[in-house]
Amino acid sequence: MSLKYSVGDLTIHRVIEQESPFFPALEFIPGLTAEVLAENRAWMRHAKALDDADTLILCFQSYVVKTPHHTILIDSCIGNDKSRPQRPKWHMKTDDTYMRALGAAGVSVEDIDFVMCTHLHVDHVGWNTRMENGRWVPTFPKARYVFAKQEFDYWTEQNAKAEVPPFADSVLPVVEAGRHELVGNDHQIGDHVRIVPTPGHTPGHVAFAMGRGKDDAVFTGDLIHSPLQTLYPELSMKFDVDQAIAAKTRRNVLERYCDTDTLCCTAHFPSPSVGRIKRKGNAFVCESV
Ligand SMILES: [Zn+2]
Repeated sequence: MSLKYSVGDLTIHRVIEQESPFFPALEFIPGLTAEVLAENRAWMRHAKALDDADTLILCFQSYVVKTPHHTILIDSCIGNDKSRPQRPKWHMKTDDTYMRALGAAGVSVEDIDFVMCTHLHVDHVGWNTRMENGRWVPTFPKARYVFAKQEFDYWTEQNAKAEVPPFADSVLPVVEAGRHELVGNDHQIGDHVRIVPTPGHTPGHVAFAMGRGKDDAVFTGDLIHSPLQTLYPELSMKFDVDQAIAAKTRRNVLERYCDTDTLCCTAHFPSPSVGRIKRKGNAFVCESV
């Protein structure tokens, strides 16, 4: 299984925290019919994207990207010691899988210059913070944490109505520590990092395009969850806040990168999670590299 990719002057490492059956396919993707699932069952199982009980297999991972100037962590997964009673595999966990994977990628928490979150859902912010002496502190002490302003504002509003635990324990402590930057969609870091607005899954969801002068790689966050959605971009998932916009965004992004050299680094596709987008009929496939 490939964990490291080199493209242009970037080096990309996958940092996997969990990879396992996650949610029954027909429930996770409300528009998916039993017929369409049946037609796609064989290749989905072969790709290890679907188990024998028709449960979608998802990977939960960060990417560490080294540009000539910076070491950047994209999305911070699930985290430890977080109270997530609805998800037993994520609840109050204490394993060292993530930190070992980070070490295997050759970086320490001190080495990260920027943490960039595609959006502020529970499985993308977890390691933003860790528990130290009974309080949440930024895990990456030297990093600036980059949040899209629109996304941050949305969750600030939601959190004011009723506490959103991942926002409270994995985003606000970073803000209190003064380590955050709220950015607009025109934000760039040097000549290597650009924001691609990709609303739908959440209102302020963004993808990150990286590479000098061209998009050598794109990090798609949760604009897509399963390889099934490359073939059926119109199928949104249960937690897409705006299902119609999510579908439109998905097709637009797949079209933008279709038959290009850009490495598509997905958040949740099963391993290897990374590939290039090719056209297939009126839709797409993500071909492993
Ligand atoms: Zn996610």
